[in-house]
Amino acid sequence: MDFQTEYPRYAARSGELFREASEIIPGGAGSSARTVRFGWKPYPPFIASGSGSHLTDVDGHDYIDYLLGLGPDILGHRHPVVTRAVADAIARYGTSFGLPYELEIEAARKVVEAVPSIEMVRFTNSGSEAVGAAVRLARAFTGRRILVRFEGHYHGWQDVVYWSNHVDPAAAGPAERPRPVAAGPGVPLELADTLEVLTWNDPESFRRLMDERGDEIAAVITEPAVFNTGCILPEPGYLELLRSETKKHGALLIFDEVITGFRFCRGGGQEWFGVMPDLTTLAKGLGGGFPVAAIGGSREVMGMIAEGRYSHSGTYNANVVQCAAVAATMDLLDDPDWYARQRALGDRLAAGLRDLCASAGVPARVEGLGTVFQLWFTDHAIRDWRDAEKYADEALFTRWYQEMLLRGVLFHPSQYENLFVSMVHTDADVDRTLEAAAEAIPLIAAERR
Ligand code: PMP
Repeated sequence: MDFQTEYPRYAARSGELFREASEIIPGGAGSSARTVRFGWKPYPPFIASGSGSHLTDVDGHDYIDYLLGLGPDILGHRHPVVTRAVADAIARYGTSFGLPYELEIEAARKVVEAVPSIEMVRFTNSGSEAVGAAVRLARAFTGRRILVRFEGHYHGWQDVVYWSNHVDPAAAGPAERPRPVAAGPGVPLELADTLEVLTWNDPESFRRLMDERGDEIAAVITEPAVFNTGCILPEPGYLELLRSETKKHGALLIFDEVITGFRFCRGGGQEWFGVMPDLTTLAKGLGGGFPVAAIGGSREVMGMIAEGRYSHSGTYNANVVQCAAVAATMDLLDDPDWYARQRALGDRLAAGLRDLCASAGVPARVEGLGTVFQLWFTDHAIRDWRDAEKYADEALFTRWYQEMLLRGVLFHPSQYENLFVSMVHTDADVDRTLEAAAEAIPLIAAERR
């Protein structure tokens, strides 16, 4: 079957809407991650509605949804409790005041209770905003300039961090000491002087950098597990090393928990791995599908904001929709048994996919933490971005995405994204996904031969 020929028949109405959208919306979609260039070839399905763990497209197909809005829909689509909480709050209060209000305290208190290292929190609108604020705050607090980041991680689109994500190794030079490479045009190249970029999961290069430049480093920013290069887990001791070295040299450790926050346990990566950062950025799962992000940290660091020495502003920060969504989402997620069940469900799916690939003779590794994982088509261990770029079979991933889409299972077409299992995915969803995979995997295996 040729997907490029079949898809326009399968998704005729989406095709019409895509052409219409492309006239007035660049790329036909509101974020570049939804465009052809990011793998939605020949064009993305247009969505009619979402409900729980399912999506319906405008051509009438039902999907089990593992895209989950790229992460936010941790409680599935239109969770009735969160939806009602937000609607009620708007009806009772309004939407934004430009002044503080009581529900804001409730939402903040629940985040402080949920995330172990957070003593104080400010709400904002997107992960990119939260990261921008965290990096500047770390520089203000330490009076230092250098930010350390890692290849293959993504921290949003702001100039200060929009570097060396899915970088071309030829442009970045040696893995032991990569050069910062801007992730796109328009980023002032002078900012390279404010950055050190390293290979993740490599204790030696990190130690060496800290020995050389530790007293110039304002902060080290990392995803506690990398979900912007498929899924790469930290090797034992690595996060602990980041923690101890930053502490030793007076630099801050920032955990970008935009994906990991609330994902596989309520306290996120820091609770799961037992390593406490100085600053945390949150978004996605935080609002149960509503747009909200947060920057949180120790009383000492957030005190810069409290004392007015650092101004963190934003017209829409902590608006009513956000705080109502956060408060309701935090209440629902306060249930360790529910997390354990959903992790087990995700693990069953991951194990099923692993077995199907093994039986079909397709080299594959499934990496993840229960409710978020990725299938790498390779038999090589993936420890960092360069491994992913070198070993993962992108063409096979594309075929896998295509065959699963046609069988009613939706996830992002890029092997560098991942599959999200929400708190409302069911055993029946996983059974149906594995049935679809039992057809798709032998088929792509046969093509490969
Ligand atoms: N940090 C991480 C770890 C992310 O995954 C993302 C988004 N995928 C961001 C920051 C940026 O968040 P947003 O898209 O809400 O600006």
